[in-house]
Amino acid sequence: MESLKELYRVGPGPSSSHTLAIQHACLYFIKQYPNIDEVVVDLFGSLSLTGKGHRTDKIIEETFRNANKTVEVRFQNDWNVKHPNTLVIKDVHSDTSLTIYSVGGGAIRVEGVEQVVNPYVYPHHSFADIVQFCNEKNLSLYEYVTYFEPEIDSFLSEILDQMLKTVEQGLHSEGMLPGLLNMQRVANDIYKKAEVALDSAEKKTLLLTAYAYACAEENADGKTVVTAPTLGSCGVIPAVMSYYYHVCKVDKKRLQEALAVGGIFGNLIKTNATISGAEGGCQAEIGAACAMAAAACSYIENLSFEQIGYAAEIGIEHHLGLTCDPVGGYVMIPCIERNGVAALRAMDAMLYAKHIGSIKPNKITFDMVVQTMKYTGKKLALELKETSLGGLALVMPIHHE
Ligand code: SF4
Repeated sequence: MESLKELYRVGPGPSSSHTLAIQHACLYFIKQYPNIDEVVVDLFGSLSLTGKGHRTDKIIEETFRNANKTVEVRFQNDWNVKHPNTLVIKDVHSDTSLTIYSVGGGAIRVEGVEQVVNPYVYPHHSFADIVQFCNEKNLSLYEYVTYFEPEIDSFLSEILDQMLKTVEQGLHSEGMLPGLLNMQRVANDIYKKAEVALDSAEKKTLLLTAYAYACAEENADGKTVVTAPTLGSCGVIPAVMSYYYHVCKVDKKRLQEALAVGGIFGNLIKTNATISGAEGGCQAEIGAACAMAAAACSYIENLSFEQIGYAAEIGIEHHLGLTCDPVGGYVMIPCIERNGVAALRAMDAMLYAKHIGSIKPNKITFDMVVQTMKYTGKKLALELKETSLGGLALVMPIHHE
């Protein structure tokens, strides 16, 4: 598995695959061909169908404009490509071109270029193998991460700080989100309701929801967020981190360790299935985020390896088959609400693992459910994998000019 630095990335919203990775792709082209000043970018597959709502054209124009280059973006409604998120950047005046795939979580692969593929720093590919290794070496799951990435703490500290900062900024922002959906920011209003809620369970639900909305609304507004593991699902982990930090007063070091543990599960999903909505539907984004958050909460609560694996398994199992059908191609409906729901579900998954996991062993393991997610993602119809051709996007059609 790759470094956690390839999983948690800081960048502009609203989509890791449709903005963050695309920005990297454009910068990569500019670096390779600094003397090319006029390009055409063709977007294929999901990038073409949801690129308008995801602001893909905007990030391409901005990136080339900042490098003093001119660019024309073309939406090619064509699926005859190797990957559902493909873009081709071409020089207008020669045959020079690069075909680049946005493979999920902000990562890119360049056709014919091996060096962009990052080396694996973790030798294990299943949770079962990781647990066995930890037991042999007497390591906790956090120590497992530092065993292979001894320098990771400062990185995790930056990631945690950015998550908490994004939530804070989202809580203090009001007004309308960009685009044609006329969506208002509501995190601040939810937070105010949480503050005056008398019932403690209601207060907890509203607080977690406000934190998740704050982050997801910042993302929808194109602000700086962290892929966790994607930008569409960026509010789930920061919501539980904010809750443990502000309400439970858990210190930042422990939260960083929890991020590392959640990262193991994100990495396993990324390696053995996918974290791309265009490849696997929303189970691959929100399901993955919920699993990671559930594992992180379970680590904070001092649960056993088995219980942490159980919590992560629940996070995916009950999102299996979840479709990706963003209305108008915007990362707003169902995405923002879905982040709130998944944050609550992550906390519940931890509680199930804590209590039910101590009564009976779970029969479906985390590794088994990841394989099921991969299978289910393949079976999902194209209309339900970040194309905005079906589902909610169909019942609420939005016409971009
Ligand atoms: S529906 Fe899920 S996978 Fe699709 S854009 Fe929204 S958060 Fe991402």
